[in-house]
Amino acid sequence: MATILCIDDESELREEFVDFLMDAGHEVMEAHDGHSGFVAIEGKTPDLILCDISMPGMNGMEFLKLFRQKNPTHATIPFIFLTAYGNSDDVLSGLDSGADEYLVKPINFDILIAKVNSLLRSRDAYEARVMHQSQHDSLTGLPDKVLVMDRLQQVVESAQPDSEGVSTICLGLDNIRKISGVLGQDAGDFILINLAKMLNEISAELCPHSSVARLGDDQFMIILPGIRGGGQQESIIKEMFNAVADQLGPDGQGLNLRSSAGVSEWSGASSNSYNLLSEASLALGAARDEGGGGYSRFRPEMSEHAANNIKIESALFEALNNDEFTLHYQPLVDARTGVDLGAEALLRWTSKDLGSVPPNEFIEIAEQNGIIVDIGSWVIATACEAASAIGKISSNPFRIAINVSPLQFYDTTFVKSIGSILELSGLSPENLELEITERLYLEHSPLTKTALDELNEMGVRLSIDDFGTGYSALSMINRYPFSTVKIDQSFVQNTTNSQRDRDLVKSIVGMAHGQGMEIIAEGIETQSQQEFLSNLGCDVLQGYHLGKPMPADDFLERLSGQSTLIQTAACL
Ligand code: C2E
Ligand code: CA
Ligand code: CA
Repeated sequence: MATILCIDDESELREEFVDFLMDAGHEVMEAHDGHSGFVAIEGKTPDLILCDISMPGMNGMEFLKLFRQKNPTHATIPFIFLTAYGNSDDVLSGLDSGADEYLVKPINFDILIAKVNSLLRSRDAYEARVMHQSQHDSLTGLPDKVLVMDRLQQVVESAQPDSEGVSTICLGLDNIRKISGVLGQDAGDFILINLAKMLNEISAELCPHSSVARLGDDQFMIILPGIRGGGQQESIIKEMFNAVADQLGPDGQGLNLRSSAGVSEWSGASSNSYNLLSEASLALGAARDEGGGGYSRFRPEMSEHAANNIKIESALFEALNNDEFTLHYQPLVDARTGVDLGAEALLRWTSKDLGSVPPNEFIEIAEQNGIIVDIGSWVIATACEAASAIGKISSNPFRIAINVSPLQFYDTTFVKSIGSILELSGLSPENLELEITERLYLEHSPLTKTALDELNEMGVRLSIDDFGTGYSALSMINRYPFSTVKIDQSFVQNTTNSQRDRDLVKSIVGMAHGQGMEIIAEGIETQSQQEFLSNLGCDVLQGYHLGKPMPADDFLERLSGQSTLIQTAACL
């Protein structure tokens, strides 16, 4: 049954319409002109409107125009003119004004009711389509988070605690962003669409009442009713991992796409769909923390870890104001002379509530919530000031290397602020080196490229940190103005026992030198590593064996010992 508004000034005729429509099972509202039409719809929006054109007061054309303008949802409500004006110009102008149908009096009621029903059907279909679109991911057509949470809640409510379980899986694609960065967004979309299809097929085959949804950029959620831990769950996850690993790009190229998964289970204890999702996504985070490519089941300690991160996050907001940060300096040693040519500034945080928190525990959180931008500015200003002070009392130039987070580069004032810090501190640009991880330039943002080029033009050195841990080739780095490559410490340390890593380091050194870049080997812990790397031709050495990170005062004392200071250091 639909609600139909019937507007006509001829009351007899209107009554006839009303009777007929009511006989056909519809509810009818009546009005005698446009003004009373608006009064009638105040309480309830009709599903369809029948309207005469010529009426005293507000006529049908005026009513239609105002009705459509009044509310965006009115645009889809079917509108039929019923009028005595039957020449073709009248019909055309009626339809032009936005009516869906135009019927000329005297009205054939059978035709009228057929038109009414047909318009109502197409509106229902349209609304169903809109509803579907608003609850489904537009790229893959999979249900979105809101819809799938609804389904999960229904599944949990109807499952029998003793006989059935429900497994919820969060599947994350570990390197899809990198792949989209390299192959382009269209290729990324192509991969996601194919993958959505595969995941649907696998879960439908192995668990008939399953649902697959897309949660975000690189995450899917799979609900498996009737499945508890153990073999069946494991084989579904493995099939999904294989489907991800076998994905090809648009040109049929292999991708090495990799995924991780987190699993939570409902087995009768009171739990709602949101708990199940958050447990599965905590478990996914844990699987990724372990290096990715595997899966974890939710354990209660994971919530503790998440709670700890929340504590760190709230303490971080106060840390700058409370002066809780300091910098330590780790020597960068000239491989030829054995003398310190500079230092890497490393952030240290002693929180008044949490005590000392290592960078590996807070930097990522600070990046996620954006505080790293302010912290990073403090680091740059403090380290440049210290380096400039050391440079003034040293017989050699003194270089300061500073870690910069990708997020800092997206701040459009970043390059300018480096310029002002250099000016204020009196440090020359060639004594400042910014260390950047490959995440940054893999994101391929033109903004980043411009910032790197501008810094290079200013004379600032740029180095790639942790080289070898990601996916970039030196040839790709060549597009950016890097002057230095830092070989990741994991390779440096493996040179002791792995021929493969020794060969790899050798080829990195060869290629980087071939492109005129300087090589720093970091994480040197033993004399034999030091000898191996300096014999290979690494230019700069860094690591506990050559000097641990230390406070500024200790660093100055160390420099005094090397007799590179031309005057006794006043405290920094
Ligand atoms: P990184 O940039 O790779 O810095 C080197 C890390 O390795 C430092 O850890 C350093 O203390 C440690 N290290 C140095 N030599 C050796 C060695 O011989 N053996 C071993 N096992 N480790 C060595 P730290 O200070 O804990 O910093 C960890 C990471 O936190 C840094 O890795 C860097 O990515 C980040 N970080 C530190 N300070 C900052 C900062 O001011 N800003 C940003 N964005 N990140 C920072
Ligand atoms: Ca670094
Ligand atoms: Ca590093």
